[in-house]
Amino acid sequence: MKIHPVLKEIAAVFKACDKELCLVGGAVRDVLRGKKAHDWDLATNAAPNEVMDIFRNAQPKGKVFPTGIKHGTVTAVFRGTTMEITTYRTEAGYVDGRRPDQVHFTSSIEEDLSRRDFTINAIALRLPGGEKVDPFGGEADLKKRIIRCVGDPAARFAEDGLRPMRAVRFAAQLAFELEPATLAAIPGSLETCAKVSAERVKDEIEKIIASDKPSRAFVLMEQSGLLRLFLPELAACKGVDQKGNHRFDVLEHSLLACDYAAAKNYPPDVRIAALLHDIGKPITRNLDENGIWTFYQHEAASEKMARAIMERLRFPNLLTDSVCHLVREHMFHYTDEWSDAAVRRFIVRVGEANLVKTYQLRSADAYATAASDPGPNFLLPLMYRVEKAQSEKSAFALKDLAVNGTDLIARGIKPGKTLGIILNELLETVLDDPAQNTREDLLVIAEKLREKLTV
Ligand code: ATP
Ligand code: MG
Repeated sequence: MKIHPVLKEIAAVFKACDKELCLVGGAVRDVLRGKKAHDWDLATNAAPNEVMDIFRNAQPKGKVFPTGIKHGTVTAVFRGTTMEITTYRTEAGYVDGRRPDQVHFTSSIEEDLSRRDFTINAIALRLPGGEKVDPFGGEADLKKRIIRCVGDPAARFAEDGLRPMRAVRFAAQLAFELEPATLAAIPGSLETCAKVSAERVKDEIEKIIASDKPSRAFVLMEQSGLLRLFLPELAACKGVDQKGNHRFDVLEHSLLACDYAAAKNYPPDVRIAALLHDIGKPITRNLDENGIWTFYQHEAASEKMARAIMERLRFPNLLTDSVCHLVREHMFHYTDEWSDAAVRRFIVRVGEANLVKTYQLRSADAYATAASDPGPNFLLPLMYRVEKAQSEKSAFALKDLAVNGTDLIARGIKPGKTLGIILNELLETVLDDPAQNTREDLLVIAEKLREKLTV
């Protein structure tokens, strides 16, 4: 078992002061599974002010920040390593299914572990030696790869409605199963879950999305009612079959697309867009005269719904905008018949900066339709045409035009609506025929447009 030497060193300092120091939380899971830990949560029987004194008097001196002093937490930096040290505590006074405001300090690590959510999160390693304190069988559950509540699941979920989301998030992150009684207690705790703040739910969804296989969590959410609570639009995709187009219902298709995006290590906006790209299908679905389902304009409906979901869950605006743009533009079907102008219009619509992500989403969508990897050559013909268009130095935005607003104003066109219309018309012209992107030609065309617009 590998324990960071800096932690051993500071533990020796605690010991010299007659205080205990234990490694707890995610780092213990990681150490026991032979993985690299990414942050250091420590627990101690020293009071927060004693913790601060120990670091300040250590050799070399540590820096301390009272980051959560009310809950007994101090952040310290010792020999360049950042760690969070929390005084052993129990929690009391859960109000409204949120984490309690009151904490009580205690002198026993076992008691501290008993307030923790899951057995795999309730193991401590005493430092510096690394002796295990594992009163709830956490190590056995780690080996069995299961997430099990400490104590009675229904009671633990009633205390804190975030825990069910944490359970499914850990299931996705660690590729673990939920122990049956833990899973069975979620439906009865949904009312408590509903009281959790949107930001905290969002944080869990972000971690799910960042995992290797997000569907692990979403399937559990669907089974337990969490999906209907937090993402009802996605829950409504279950059973919406797409016969004639697809083998999968819309929920299965969405999860396959999201898993593919995660497996390929695509960025978060592509992963979320993969999850939500077809969310407008249930409300746009129609049976045509041949008995085939159609979903006209579902991308517009999906975009609108994706925005509503992401705003409701308080995702950052930039991420929301990016996801919505990808969703809106996900329905393109390239064929060799596309004219050069069509390729240029595609570039303009998608935006040069978003081309790669758009290809990624399209690949995820294709994978999730056939359940087989479309392969590296999928979209290659389109990518080739796009690169060719870009190398020809065509105009793809107003800024690429051979004239600008100032030139037109100098020729007597008034700033405002007319100027905007004329500039956009010029871009349309150049998209059709890049050869016309010269100052001379564009000024002539602008003049004609002005005459037309001012009669
Ligand atoms: P990671 O940091 O990798 O997400 P972690 O297990 O360290 O995983 P944190 O949120 O950092 O998770 O919490 C640290 C520890 O605090 C957990 O391992 C758990 O013991 C306890 N804990 C955190 N949140 C809760 C909660 N809502 N209810 C009970 N215990 C919790
Ligand atoms: Mg942690």
